[in-house]
Amino acid sequence: MDISRFIVKRIGLPIAEKVRGWPLSRYLGELEQSQWLSPEEIRAIQDRKLASLVDHAYWTVPFYRELFDEHGLTPQDVRSVDDLPKLPIVTKDVIRANLERMVSDRFDRGQLARLSSSGSTGEPFTLYMSDAEKARKWAGLLRFWKWAGLELGDRYVNVTGFPHGAFKKGFFWRFLERRFSGMMAVSAFDLTEGNVDQVVRRIQAFRPKALRGYASSLYSLAKLVTDKGLKLEVSAVCTTGETLFPFQRELIESCFGCRVYDGYGGEGMEVAGQCGFGNTYHVNAEDVILEVVDSDGNRCPPNREGQVVLTDLNHYSMPFIRYNIQDVAIASDRLCECGRGLPVVEQVTGRLTDIGVTPSGKVIVVHFFTGLFEGFSGEVKDFQVVQEKPDLFVISVVSVGNPGSVVQRIHQAAQAHLGQDVTVEVRPVSHIPLTKGGKRRLFISKCGMKAAGISLGD
Ligand SMILES: [Zn+2]
Repeated sequence: MDISRFIVKRIGLPIAEKVRGWPLSRYLGELEQSQWLSPEEIRAIQDRKLASLVDHAYWTVPFYRELFDEHGLTPQDVRSVDDLPKLPIVTKDVIRANLERMVSDRFDRGQLARLSSSGSTGEPFTLYMSDAEKARKWAGLLRFWKWAGLELGDRYVNVTGFPHGAFKKGFFWRFLERRFSGMMAVSAFDLTEGNVDQVVRRIQAFRPKALRGYASSLYSLAKLVTDKGLKLEVSAVCTTGETLFPFQRELIESCFGCRVYDGYGGEGMEVAGQCGFGNTYHVNAEDVILEVVDSDGNRCPPNREGQVVLTDLNHYSMPFIRYNIQDVAIASDRLCECGRGLPVVEQVTGRLTDIGVTPSGKVIVVHFFTGLFEGFSGEVKDFQVVQEKPDLFVISVVSVGNPGSVVQRIHQAAQAHLGQDVTVEVRPVSHIPLTKGGKRRLFISKCGMKAAGISLGD
């Protein structure tokens, strides 16, 4: 057994469970069993957990009490997943405005962790969570990792915008952390042509079983490794935190010689992950109810693209019930070949803020630009499109050599698709900065689709 796996599993985890009261192994054991139940049995778990969450939210969370009362509902009206649409959808702005009233009065706020996400575009978002709830979330994540063939304690490299982990400073502490957790952090900001040889040497010396990080970071690493003719092989790559595009999956898989397992989550939830059969996702359904709705908030039929609305079945300190996370996805009613009874999501299309609308009402998604730039793959290293105003698209391009005619050809192709009612500017740049959190966003719409009131339904 690998020493770090031994330390984590046999020493670290039991101590953490004893000292902090995290029943992580029990949660994981339960999830490993329930994933093989039939869809009906899993639905029954959801109904049971939802009824209990709704009771709790009504009686102990001022925000939900008021919300139910306003809509003339009592907890008795919401007993199952089928009853859920009776409740209104809660948005990020509403939660932000009511943060303190979202916390259950059964919990001592001082005992809860206050978690903030920087948000790739907007203002930060804060939520409260207890240690036991964090353990639940970890169990969901560990089940996804098992699908990728990873065990708790397996060594992995985390390519991240926050590379310092628990210990901000000091080689010695970072060395201990690596030995103790089996995780080595690599900064997404270090993935440059000048640094890549050294980064790859560090990773090789650590001998990880897997790489983990944002799709864009792992794509950057794969591209640098491929371009430089270096070699780096692992058993699995786990991507998270961003939409994974097919071109990214292709290069990452061929470069590292393994499959990519993409995971999808947010706001303290591990929502869905890939099991390795096809490129679809399983919902972590014992923990989360995932609904897909149209812009009027009505549930979409299977295989119709719509907005993701989530209910966290484990989060009692600050309940999220019918929360619109502002992502777009397609759910399915079919079963996966792997035999798990967990519901299937065909595609996580992306964030609502990655969708723009032109003045004539044309809906623009990031996939248009990834498709366009596939045609320039030998000439363009990197790009980013920003819809500054409804009628202004600025495309930054890092070209391989001299920008030459490529700028003009990109301009023509983009203009032809976007329409004559918008201005397209193509700017050659030497490098495209990452967000503060180390993410890379290919398309940002500063006006967004919500503002244009466009329906995602039909
Ligand atoms: Zn499956």
